[in-house]
Amino acid sequence: MGTANLTLDAALREWSGRYQEHIAVTDGQTAWSYRQLYKKALTLADMFRKRGIVRGCRVIMQMTNTVWFPAVFFALSRIGAVPILCLPAHKEIVIGGICRNAEPAAMIFTRRYLKYSYEENARQLAEQYGCTDRLFFEDELEALISEKDDAASEREQAATELPSADDLAFLSLSGGTTGIPKLIPRTHRDYLYNAYVTALRADLSEKSVMLNILPAAHNFALGTPGIIGTLMCGGTVVMQKYPDMTEFFSNVERYGATITSLVPALVNMCIRYRNLFADDDVSSLRYVMVGGAMFRPEEAAAAERLMGCTVIQVFGMSEGMTFMTDRDAPEAVRWHDQGTPSAPEDTYRIVDADGNDVPDGTAGEIIVRGPYTITGYYENPEANRRSFNSEGYYLTGDRALRTPAGNIRILGRVREQINRAGEKIMPAALEEWICRSDDVLECAVIGVPDAELGQKICVWAVTEKPLTLQELHAFLKSEQVSDFYLPDMLRLTDALPLTPVGKVDKNELLRMLGREEQS
Ligand code: AMP
Repeated sequence: MGTANLTLDAALREWSGRYQEHIAVTDGQTAWSYRQLYKKALTLADMFRKRGIVRGCRVIMQMTNTVWFPAVFFALSRIGAVPILCLPAHKEIVIGGICRNAEPAAMIFTRRYLKYSYEENARQLAEQYGCTDRLFFEDELEALISEKDDAASEREQAATELPSADDLAFLSLSGGTTGIPKLIPRTHRDYLYNAYVTALRADLSEKSVMLNILPAAHNFALGTPGIIGTLMCGGTVVMQKYPDMTEFFSNVERYGATITSLVPALVNMCIRYRNLFADDDVSSLRYVMVGGAMFRPEEAAAAERLMGCTVIQVFGMSEGMTFMTDRDAPEAVRWHDQGTPSAPEDTYRIVDADGNDVPDGTAGEIIVRGPYTITGYYENPEANRRSFNSEGYYLTGDRALRTPAGNIRILGRVREQINRAGEKIMPAALEEWICRSDDVLECAVIGVPDAELGQKICVWAVTEKPLTLQELHAFLKSEQVSDFYLPDMLRLTDALPLTPVGKVDKNELLRMLGREEQS
């Protein structure tokens, strides 16, 4: 499963030659062999090309977990176009901001997901960016492609300038202090290597069946090792569209899933479900990879017990670097630590506030560098100054220590980004949105530790008149704010406490909440 010098599309061609009729991807309704997936990517590429999508075009891609996700992804890669991978949870404001930063030439949207309609906004954006001819919805793709495009595609491709392994393959989204995510540029080479090293650590093979319930556009689901890592090894990817536990466990049984990747909030849903209903056969499941947010040892223990499998902890980021625990690591490591870097060339340091290395066992910020970790965001010099040091290390903003056995243990955030059940919330962005309300004079958003979600979102606000959490939600929804930004708690106060230099004192706000609980 080597990846040297291949583009994603060329890699799929190789896998299709090697694994042929073996099922590559299924979503419960449709199943495609490796050959069929490759052919779909070819015909889609042809159709996209005829509509004017060419090499270097940026393409908004907001799709759900169906077989069409990998087909579109590889089709765009074939053309050398650059998908911008948006999650279904990203709503109008975020997508609009990304469009402003990236000037897309085409858009592929889901029409509806979880009762939310994306269509109207999609049409408006397509109008605004002059690409109404290149606006597609995932449910119409089948009807838009015709099998005869396939042969033409092979011919045309020879004449077209082919993308190379070091070209930009796609842009994924990170959190950002302005509320609009930063764009993370990943190349074909770095991403195939990302998938390769993590697939090796996760023991993937032709026998693997990866049950994919996380949104496919997220790095953990796409290539860590996720969809691409599984395809690279000749395994089968099962795409589950909705985060429904009954369906999840029936998929484990139906497809004989051997591995899945989950964020801790989903693990907790699994644990609750299995405590109530233990009749699905989960004996095929060997590994549950867990990452994206703080994961407690008791949760890891319960997951292994109730799902009959081994937990592989993952500390990773869309910017690249991934740490993983070994499959055969002792319990103490599997339940408490996040392991070691995936690739031999990866390096990391744990540093104090002055950038000096701290001794083992001491907490500091973990900073990372390696062959599949980016060295800068897409066209964003200001963010680059903040997020990378002069040696090219990415400053994760995460607090960690190194254990005597050489594993890392993540302890939380150095900076204040809130991680609610794996979703990253930027307080500054939410504050900006809340302050647009005529009722709110001032506000501050803090993360509050929570056993279930990792962190909850609490808003402290100074208001003209009484305001309820429901009213605040209604206002934010009317502003098209993404659901995962909706606060869990609202507290009203006469004035926000300030630090000596006049900044809002968020530590004091947290203490105020603690005092309130005690009284
Ligand atoms: P993303 O780019 O969305 O994957 O988010 C990456 C961030 O998620 C990291 O910088 C961490 O803050 C957090 N994260 C990822 N994995 C873990 C983990 N195992 N434990 C705690 N936080 C994590």
